[in-house]
Parts: sequence; C-alpha cells; structure tokens
Amino acid sequence: MSQASAQTTAIAKSPSFQTQMLIDGQWVDARSGATIAVLNPADGSQLTTVPAATAVDVDAAVSAARRAFDDGRWSGLPTRERARILNRLADLIDANAEELGWIETLDNGMPLAQAVGGHVPGAAATFRYYASWCDKLDGKTTNLSGNGAEYHAFTLLEPVGVVAIITPWNAPIITAAKLAPALAAGCTCVLKPAEDTPLTALRLGELLIEAGVPDGVVNIVTGYGADAGAALASHHQVDKIAFTGSTATGRSIINSAAGNFKKVSLELGGKSPVVVMDDADLDRAIPGAANAVFANAGQICSAGTRLYVQRKVFDRVVAGIAEIAGNIRLGNGMDAATEMGPVVSQRQLERVTGMIDAGVAEGAEVVVGGGRHGDTGYFVKPTVFVNTRPEMKIVREEIFGPVLVAAPFDDPSEIPLLANDSDYGLAAAIFTTNLSTGHRFAQQVRAGTVWMNTYHFVDVSMPWGGYKQSGWGRENGFDGLAPYLQTKSVVVAI
Ligand code: ADP
Repeated sequence: MSQASAQTTAIAKSPSFQTQMLIDGQWVDARSGATIAVLNPADGSQLTTVPAATAVDVDAAVSAARRAFDDGRWSGLPTRERARILNRLADLIDANAEELGWIETLDNGMPLAQAVGGHVPGAAATFRYYASWCDKLDGKTTNLSGNGAEYHAFTLLEPVGVVAIITPWNAPIITAAKLAPALAAGCTCVLKPAEDTPLTALRLGELLIEAGVPDGVVNIVTGYGADAGAALASHHQVDKIAFTGSTATGRSIINSAAGNFKKVSLELGGKSPVVVMDDADLDRAIPGAANAVFANAGQICSAGTRLYVQRKVFDRVVAGIAEIAGNIRLGNGMDAATEMGPVVSQRQLERVTGMIDAGVAEGAEVVVGGGRHGDTGYFVKPTVFVNTRPEMKIVREEIFGPVLVAAPFDDPSEIPLLANDSDYGLAAAIFTTNLSTGHRFAQQVRAGTVWMNTYHFVDVSMPWGGYKQSGWGRENGFDGLAPYLQTKSVVVAI
C-alpha cells in the first residue's frame, strides 16, 4: 500500500476535523457556546459541529485583525519573508492534499478526485502565484505636469487594511484561497466560510499557523450569513469585503458596506450561455457543453446553463448531451466510480428540484433527468430541458444545480441577442471551427470570461469576474491583487 493510500485509509476510518474558530492565534468556541451541525451531503449524516459565531465573536476577530494590521506585524515584514511564508503555506497544502481533499468531499460532496486533483492543488497554486507578487508591488515616479523641476513626486502601493472574506459552499478551499492576494498585499483578514462547508477553511487555518503566518493576521469565524456574515459586512473596522456568493446576498453586502464605505469586490452568480454552431466539431462540443453544466453538479457560478444550438445540429447535440447526462454515475464522492456527487444541502436540493418543477409547470419539456435521484443524500438527476421560452424562470434565474435549458437558433446574427439576454455576465462559450465566428462572439458577448471550444478553463494568472449583475472587480492575475492595494501619492519639494 502506498503511503498516500495508507493515509487515506486512516482518514477514512476516523476523520478528524478542526472544529473551533481561529481568533488571534487561538482556537476558540463561540462566546454563546452555540454550534452549527455540519452534514455530509452524500447521506445527511452529521460529521461534526462548528461554532455559530455572532457579532461578539466577529468583533473579537476583527479587532485582532485590526491590531495585527496596525502594528505592522505582517505588512511590515520584509516582502521576501511574506513570500516565503505564503510559499511554505502552498507547500503545506500540497503536502496535505489528500487529507484536505477528503475533508472537502465529506463536507461538500464533490468527487474525491476532483477535490484532491483539482480544488486543493488549485488553492496551493493560488498561494504560490501571489507569493511571487509580494516583492513586485512597486509604485512609480511621476512626471508632474506642472512645476516638475521644483518637485519630486512618486506613488506608493499600500495594503488596504483589514479585509473580510466571505465565501460560499460550492468550492470551499478554492474560494478560501482568496486569502492569497490579500496576504500578498499586506492586508490582515477575517475569513468566514459558508455555514454548510466550513471544514477545509479551518484545516487551512492550522496550516497557516504552521507556515508561520503571525497570530491575528488571519482569523477564521464560522457562522450563519445573517449573523456572523452580516456582522462582518457591517463592521466599521473592516476596510474591504471580498465576497463570493449569490447575487441576492451580494446586494445585501453592498448595503452593509455603505456604513463606512468599505471597498467591495463581488464574485456573484451567472447564467452563462454556451453556443454550438453547425460547423462545430461535435465530438468536442457535445461533451464540452455537458461538462459546462454538469461539472460539480452544476454548482459553479460560471456553469454553462443556457445552451443555444444552430438548428441543423440541435437534435444531435441535445441527444448527445442527454446521453451523457443519463450515463453520469451519481454517488458518494468517496466512491472512486462516482462522477457526480450530491448538491450541498437539503435546502439546495429543494431549491433545485423546485426550479425543475417550475420549468415543467411553465411548459418546458424534460429530455432527461427531471428531479431527485434516490432517497438518501441530496442527489439531483442531471436534467436537460427543451421547448423553453426566454421568459421562463429556468431560463432567466440561476439554478445552481445540474440543469440545462437548450434552444435552437437559425442565423448567426441572432447570437449576441440570445447570449446577452440575461442579467448576468460571468462567462460564455462558443463551439465553432470558424475563427471569425469565434472571435466575433468574444467581442459581442457581455461576459468576463469567454471560452472557445472549451469550458471551465480557469487559471490563477487570468483575470476572472463578472459583467452586469455577476459582480464587481476581478480576481486572479494582478487585477485580483489590485483591490487589496491603495495608491498613495507623495510630493517632495526639492
Ligand atoms: P446561498 O444562499 O446559496 O447559501 P449565499 O450567497 O447566501 O449563498 O452565501 C455565501 C456566503 O455569504 C456564505 O458564507 C453565507 O454565510 C454568507 N452570507 C449570507 N447572507 C449574508 C449576509 N446577509 N451578509 C453577509 N454574509 C452573508
């Protein structure tokens, strides 16, 4: 037995979780003693409990982050030391990938291979990428437009301060890695993972300490959105909020942030279009469009959920996707044969099946799937709808489950209208062998990311974010670091 699989077996037999919050370098319970049950979505069993933080706990965490920012214990470190710590953290994440993946699968439900092979190394890569920015955050000298000979002027890039990072349940460790640009910039942080999936963030907290991140620089509070989340978003000692989650909650974060004019970045929902032209390589387009919507059981903000296919190939493409959907093996993410895990919670199961029922009630036709799978755990059958109309709820609203709506079109001139017929603008894709068609689409579609002949390809060096109601700002690349910095102009009389 390999070392990795021996470790895997040990974790499987008796998984151990960090179940307290990290505040000022200490592992603590909520002051009230209240807890939240953390469930395994594959069978509804309770894995453990975590503290249910309220405003008083959030205040303690923010105060710790404030002190840690103001005394310069992090921003004042030599930048190469900051980089060394972040690189060490990345190495620790990689070294513990198997265990982190297990925790993620138990907590979120995603297939283990996806957690161990994709999400965990993705988080490590994010810390490593931003570690390399630490010593490159230079201001610039400025050629003054007036009195240039009398003055020397330059800019400094400074960390924005205390950052609240509020994350969702669909990709817990990847979104917790939003700590990376904040820390690279020199900010201190309070991270609040989603109440449904707090466990990898807490394990990450242990690794942060092991990597040498000083006490108070990263604090992790667990709690409900309406309590801990709202307290964090409205706290006057927080300088910036980085939020990933639903568009509705994003709107409420904007309101909470108004009190002290926090800087806000938002990575919100989507209803992303996938276009298949009749000249496309269908061997690529059919699995590509299926993966666009069914990956992670559809629980991806950029899922390709609106499919538009040129009429000549519409039936073939829909039949191909339906065949893939019907053959996807649903099951416990711990089972190596599983291709699609459950959705995250009972509430999410009800939301998704409720949307499917709404589609049927509005007259759309189910080609495959159409409801819950089994009667234990929170599984939804991969579902494809046709005969939809643009105003239907299933066409307009984000479902966040494995549900696709497909519609034919005739003329390429219809594409921009169809693709842009949404309040969202996170991602879009086109499958075509015609270069001009592909590039024209990239110009015309109002989305933060455009894929041609592929889907879900994301890289930490490539900016990521939404047009329209899909968000404010960008993550990844330098664009993802800039919101954690502010520019100071300095003028010196010679
Ligand atoms: P969902 O409704 O699918 O759970 P949310 O966008 O509400 O998605 O959740 C994303 C994150 O936002 C979670 O960490 C959640 O606890 C948090 N959250 C929810 N409501 C609020 C709120 N009013 N203020 C701040 N954070 C919130």
